[in-house]
Amino acid sequence: MKTTITGLHHITAISSDVRRNMRFFTSTLGLRFVKKSVNQDDTGTYHLYYGDYAGSPGTILTFFPWAGVPRGRPGSGQAYATAFSVPVGSLPYWQERFKQLKIDSLPIEKRFEDAVLTFFDPDGLRLELVATKETDPRLPTPSNDVPPENAIRGFHGTTLGLIDAAPTAAVLTGMMGYHLAGQSGHRSRYTIGSSGPGTYVDLLTDPALPRGLNGAGTIHHVAFRVPDDASQTAARAVIVKDGLSVSPVIDRAYFKSIYYREPGGVLFEIATDQPGFAIDEPVETLGTKLSLPPHLESHRAEIEAGLPAID
Ligand code: ZN
Repeated sequence: MKTTITGLHHITAISSDVRRNMRFFTSTLGLRFVKKSVNQDDTGTYHLYYGDYAGSPGTILTFFPWAGVPRGRPGSGQAYATAFSVPVGSLPYWQERFKQLKIDSLPIEKRFEDAVLTFFDPDGLRLELVATKETDPRLPTPSNDVPPENAIRGFHGTTLGLIDAAPTAAVLTGMMGYHLAGQSGHRSRYTIGSSGPGTYVDLLTDPALPRGLNGAGTIHHVAFRVPDDASQTAARAVIVKDGLSVSPVIDRAYFKSIYYREPGGVLFEIATDQPGFAIDEPVETLGTKLSLPPHLESHRAEIEAGLPAID
């Protein structure tokens, strides 16, 4: 038995400054602010979601902005880098933009067949733009700051830093249903379903990687997508049968979630495509109000009073 995962759903990271985080991901990168909500386990903290116009699964980078939280250390046992898909030929635009805006970036490298530009958000989060030669049918995210011919299309993939890739690869290719798509140096690439941008999981076993530490500028977890509740229930049964510890189904309002830690140390989630971000506000005005799940709605006044103003 394997799950019916179709690719990445969202990736969640940690930031130390909510306003700076919003400016960077909306103005600098041109993503849409899809949802302003709260961390359901810590309602004094925002949970911010950035993505494409409709908030489609596979485009959503989310943040817990914990004010002043110390920096973490990217490394092994973590999702080490998060890659976005951009059109072929757009990297010179981004290089120039990063230079003008004084954003740290690295020289363009070639990875498999694609050019890759690595850069860092204000908390030091390692991000990549992959100018992929593969077809990416997803629409560019409309933005006042980034022209559509250079705009981000959504995730390309995630890179997991690992001391030993074998146990993680076994989970990916076993119960999760991924298959090996390529190998280069310390990097093995896995894909699933229809493949292509938005599906890739790269396992990086560079011995020079330090042990990762959670904190600002690191990834908290990686979520994979399944179509609906039934496929999530089936996926959970597969994980239980394979002997990994997995959470109960948790209702996150915009999707339902289960969580488990893969053997390399990275926290994985499986999230449903349904019901999506338009369940409590129209697509046209996503992200413009504080959205609370129904069970927190009766506490709206005190929750809003405890959050910093960010508009
Ligand atoms: Zn999540």
